[in-house]
Amino acid sequence: MEKTFVLGPRSFVLDQGKAEEAYAAKAVINGRETMTFNLLPLRYQWAYDLYQVMKKNHWEPEDVGMQKDVEQWRSSEILSDSERWIIRMGIGYFSAAEGIVGDNIIHVVRELVTAPELKLVLGRHAHEENIHADSLLYMISSLGINPHECEAIFEQIETVRRKNEFVTKISKDLRRDIDLTLVENKQLLAKNIFVFGQCMEGTQFYGLFGMILSLYRQNKFPGIGQMFRYTLRDESNHIEVFRNLFMDLVEENKEIWTPEFREELRETMREAVQLEKDFIEDCLPMSSVGLSASEFMPYIDYIADRRLQGVGLEPLIGGVENPFPWLAELMDINKEQNFFEGRVTEYQKSSALGAVDDDLL
Ligand code: FE
Ligand code: MN
Repeated sequence: MEKTFVLGPRSFVLDQGKAEEAYAAKAVINGRETMTFNLLPLRYQWAYDLYQVMKKNHWEPEDVGMQKDVEQWRSSEILSDSERWIIRMGIGYFSAAEGIVGDNIIHVVRELVTAPELKLVLGRHAHEENIHADSLLYMISSLGINPHECEAIFEQIETVRRKNEFVTKISKDLRRDIDLTLVENKQLLAKNIFVFGQCMEGTQFYGLFGMILSLYRQNKFPGIGQMFRYTLRDESNHIEVFRNLFMDLVEENKEIWTPEFREELRETMREAVQLEKDFIEDCLPMSSVGLSASEFMPYIDYIADRRLQGVGLEPLIGGVENPFPWLAELMDINKEQNFFEGRVTEYQKSSALGAVDDDLL
């Protein structure tokens, strides 16, 4: 079907058929190479919808007051050594982890996918990792923690080093020209998306999220807790971005979904869970008020099983109950959005008007 536009001496013919061919060639991988970044018509509606949700959730660390946190950090009475250690481990671990996620998106996933709307949402995802990394810098400078401590935590705390190595190795394997028509390479990319979305952001972030929100619930570190709540809301969208990307990649490349590959992914999650449990032992070597390492173990099992089932894989254990019902309210993806809705709308309004929202101070 052709349409001709005549303007004075010139006529322009637009051929819908050719445009439809270009649309039909949109794919997660090995699709039409385009530098024109044409989003329309959208083939992956979910990607654009999530982009819109993510955009509405925008936040900046400096909008969150740190005064109470600083008072508590300086006071010799309010906090136990265990509580201070959780904050150090939280800031230390996430300082590296957020950057690793963003770097993998930019150098691997966004590079290899071909549909522009997928690149769009991945660009936003990477930017949110910058915001998260920046929020940790803000927490560190507000509390007056020695900035060398982060590097020391990545390198010298073995359980952190191993968690980081678990994700960086699958990222490095894909940083070369790879032929994505080969099944093994498609599986490597699918595994990368699974590891980052479901194992790391989906499971290995949740031990510390739980600990920091437990402190927040006891009115400890209200500023840090607030920033982690915003981060957690972002992470739930990131898990969805990577879950949808994974599902569509498998759908379009069914030959990768072999029983062996499915088992490999489950084993990878098993490894992720063990690394997280070892890490939790280091975060909570002594029990703290309302927090003990042993209570966190079934929580990680529960989260990991949900992530596996979310991408159509069998759970590792099955039937695990959530040991932290209060955390479910914060962490359930559907409920969580409602939970944050009121507050975030207020935040958006107040920041748009340049006013200060008391709730955030
Ligand atoms: Fe993040
Ligand atoms: Mn993330």
